[in-house]
Amino acid sequence: MSGILRRIPRSNAKFGLNPFIFRGVMVLAVFSLAVAKGGAGEKGEDRFGHHAYAEASQKELTRIGSYRGTRPVLMRTAAAQAFRDMVSAAQNDGVSLIPISGFRSIATQKILFARSVRRRGSELAAAQWVAPPGHSEHATGWVLDLGDKNRPDTDVEQSFEDTPAFRWLFKNAGRFHFEMSFPKGNQQGVSYEPWHWRFVGFSEASSVFYLSPNRKIQ
Ligand SMILES: [Zn+2]
Repeated sequence: MSGILRRIPRSNAKFGLNPFIFRGVMVLAVFSLAVAKGGAGEKGEDRFGHHAYAEASQKELTRIGSYRGTRPVLMRTAAAQAFRDMVSAAQNDGVSLIPISGFRSIATQKILFARSVRRRGSELAAAQWVAPPGHSEHATGWVLDLGDKNRPDTDVEQSFEDTPAFRWLFKNAGRFHFEMSFPKGNQQGVSYEPWHWRFVGFSEASSVFYLSPNRKIQ
């Protein structure tokens, strides 16, 4: 976008465009870009309690598995080993953790959110269940939805909390620097998501969740 901004003033000088009209056109152009890219989130504000997050680049991501043999699950390469170590430790305790969903692009999130709006009737209602595009922790690549291999019926359901996998995670995930993003009664007001865990083992990761410029200290 900075390329566009740099080019326009030159053509402005060339054609002698009125500076007020020029400024108006620029404001409109920047606004349209923001809307096209997902609205207020691009400027870093919260939407319906969800914080704004930038999208990880493909080169920072690694495939860590697939969801029950279907779609691939990607996460930050830097956190992949911690995930593998956690899966092995759980396995040693007789618990089978599986990845359900990891990195999700803002474009994919847009589709999921629109679907949720249609189902729930409003953006406000939808946002209790699905983060608006540009506001999902999944875009950062530091986050995984986890499941119990033996309990597909609990995948991305609150009943996941009754599985051995959840009980194990609740007790042990912290050792591998994973924490639940949306526990019961979380201050963001997001619905309880026992399956959704974020990696906070490096300052690069934890700062994404704790030190965003517009984040209130809680
Ligand atoms: Zn999730």
